[in-house]
Amino acid sequence: MNRTYYIQTLGCQMNYSDSERIDAVLQNMGLSKVDKMSEADLVIFNTCSVKQKAEDKVFGQMVNVDKLRKIKPHLIAGITGCMVRNTSTKESEERDKILKRSEHVDFVFRIEDLPQLPGIIMQLWPDIDMAETQEANLKNYFEINPVYTTKAQAFVPIGTGCDNFCTYCIVPYSRKREKSRPMNDIVKECEKLVDNGCLEITLLGQNVNSYGLSNLDKKTEEFKDVQTPFVHLLEKIDALKSRGLKRLRFTSNHPKDLSDELIDAMARLETLMPYLHLPVQSGNDDVLKKMNRNYTADWYRDMIKKIRLAVPGIAISTDIIVGFCGETEEQFMDTCRLFEDVQWDMCYLSQYSTRIGTFASQNMDDDITPEVKAERWRSLNELLKKYALKGHKVFEGKVVEALVEKCENGKCEGRSEHFKTVIFDSEKDLTGTLQKVQVELGREWQLEGKLIQ
Ligand code: SF4
Repeated sequence: MNRTYYIQTLGCQMNYSDSERIDAVLQNMGLSKVDKMSEADLVIFNTCSVKQKAEDKVFGQMVNVDKLRKIKPHLIAGITGCMVRNTSTKESEERDKILKRSEHVDFVFRIEDLPQLPGIIMQLWPDIDMAETQEANLKNYFEINPVYTTKAQAFVPIGTGCDNFCTYCIVPYSRKREKSRPMNDIVKECEKLVDNGCLEITLLGQNVNSYGLSNLDKKTEEFKDVQTPFVHLLEKIDALKSRGLKRLRFTSNHPKDLSDELIDAMARLETLMPYLHLPVQSGNDDVLKKMNRNYTADWYRDMIKKIRLAVPGIAISTDIIVGFCGETEEQFMDTCRLFEDVQWDMCYLSQYSTRIGTFASQNMDDDITPEVKAERWRSLNELLKKYALKGHKVFEGKVVEALVEKCENGKCEGRSEHFKTVIFDSEKDLTGTLQKVQVELGREWQLEGKLIQ
């Protein structure tokens, strides 16, 4: 019997990349992917834990899974991603808290334990014959060859876990200690991608700047005496331009680990695109300290100046959390002042919500009212709109190159070198190609222009 699966992915690019590896494992077991949950025999939620809303969404979907189970009693459902701390099933002695919380969930697994997924599924479906699963014997998540969603662009993970312990964040507990992937494996994956027509590679990690520098990495021969391993990695991948690579990006970054050597590489390496995501989270030093971010607002200001001096015109985006525990009006105003100074091209704004299990959840009060959080969010969003528009106006009359991500009803959408959304008319489907576009209008969230034939 041919069984089917459905994956719902929430959250960041890291999760989307992880889902490509889950695809590979499940397809290797002979399962077929479907686009609707109602058509699936196996449902997996690849979750995000940054916001309470994202967690609530998963538990809401679990109720739908239970309804489906009434029609398909063999249906099984599992959860992975940032919500999960321990790989387990309902039968396990040490059940993850999610399995205790929702009776509709059959199993949960840490994404780093992905090689164990075939075993878990076969345990829950003892009645069916699965295809030979080579992956079941793999020890390492990174050894799994992903099923890439698109040919022209690929996300390549370079490490897992995080050692930074920002007080609001669950990642160091769910993904555990920071561990980098061997450089040769990453380069080999990139070579294969480029030889297959990939034009743009984005390197992914919780904190790519500390690639090869974690406590676990330092114990390995490979990274023992290397000073700036991330820059070495970028240089090796940049060299793939001779085989057809056009663009290289990386995310996410912790400001404290952004080295001078990396700034120099951003200015020097041909394929590295002029765009950097540098999460700041707050513009007030006391709040930053409570968040355990290990830098001050002025230090961040200086860092931005240094980057802009080295890479003129670079687009910079950030993340900001408003309403963190005890944040006063004056402290919030410091964030507004920093926004006015830095003028980010883009900002991913969120209102603080407690994540159970974090240091903040155990030691600080989530004492800012939802109304105040929402008002602060609105104020920053107004600043964002102002500076996003200003950043886009700069491109009016200029030519940008867009890597086209989709074309529908005569309109194509892609990303420019500066990671700006570019819209233009085309009767032809140009998805997966690089196209020169003359920008005619810069709006708040996009550039509009015409194709240069
Ligand atoms: S750097 Fe901080 S916010 Fe980012 S994953 Fe690590 S702990 Fe979380």
